[in-house]
Amino acid sequence: MSWDLASSTTQLGLLARSNSRKNSLKPLKRLSLDDRGEYLCRYPVRLKSPCGRYTGCAYFRPATTMTNSLPLYKYKSSLGAGAGLSRVKKMFSPKLFHPDILAEIASHLFHVNIPGRTFNILFVGEQKRGTNRVFWEGDRLTVDWSISEDEIAIYRGMLRQLEEMLKDLADEMNIKTDITEDWLWSMAHHSGTVSLGDTDDYLVDRDLKLRCCDNVFVCDGSVIQEHSYANTGLTIGQLALRLAERLKTFYS
Ligand SMILES: Cc1cc2nc3c(=O)[nH]c(=O)nc-3n(C[C@H](O)[C@H](O)[C@H](O)COP(=O)(O)OP(=O)(O)OC[C@H]3O[C@@H](n4cnc5c(N)ncnc54)[C@H](O)[C@@H]3O)c2cc1C
Repeated sequence: MSWDLASSTTQLGLLARSNSRKNSLKPLKRLSLDDRGEYLCRYPVRLKSPCGRYTGCAYFRPATTMTNSLPLYKYKSSLGAGAGLSRVKKMFSPKLFHPDILAEIASHLFHVNIPGRTFNILFVGEQKRGTNRVFWEGDRLTVDWSISEDEIAIYRGMLRQLEEMLKDLADEMNIKTDITEDWLWSMAHHSGTVSLGDTDDYLVDRDLKLRCCDNVFVCDGSVIQEHSYANTGLTIGQLALRLAERLKTFYS
């Protein structure tokens, strides 16, 4: 037995520092989406691939230096994701005292809005339904995941697009556009394994009803077709409320 691993797996890779011009913070805020989470110090900018299929998002977060160091970003990511003893061990790393790590800790843990014009940029992109799978090998659950050169080329295109957008807003930029697989180091928000659309080619319709069956509805992360920049929990909850309302009408 095997399952599609995910149609839209989020890839995270940190790319760049952008030092925005003094008078360009307003345009940067305009570029960003309205939904900035609960603290004002991160601006999400939505990106679309030239083919229109892939969505991505660049998060601008406060930084203090223009360092663009992959080991530092990997450390930050593992510090955030780690728990228990592994997190305690990481806290003894000298990297913890890097000014950018301290800035992240202040903004994330204590919600301190660090004023400034230097940002690091975290790019989050989608991976579409492909050949990745989870399957049993005897009694062992195996994850078979890879990313294609074509997909990496799509991300590179989106990063060049971002660089173009920022060119007139930043005094100094340090965007890494020629990323390799190494720059994509985390996955989250697996979703989209069930296709949703208006024709018979799609598994479920807009009411989340399976086309092949009159009394089966699907309501979980699998019906989210595109997200790329946000967590899935609230959307799943909202879809459940919407479906509950519709079921009342269907069966009343
Ligand atoms: C570490 C981590 C942190 C996250 N943090 C956030 C966050 O802060 N905010 C947010 O919005 N989202 C977050 N997410 C994502 C979010 O948790 C998931 O997207 C969401 O739970 C997916 O919901 P789901 O119903 O699609 O799947 P699941 O929650 O995985 O539910 C699937 C259910 O199906 C059951 N199941 C599986 N196979 C079978 C079977 N054969 N028979 C019967 N039952 C079966 C499982 O036991 C499970 O209960 C996080 C995810 C992870 C892993």
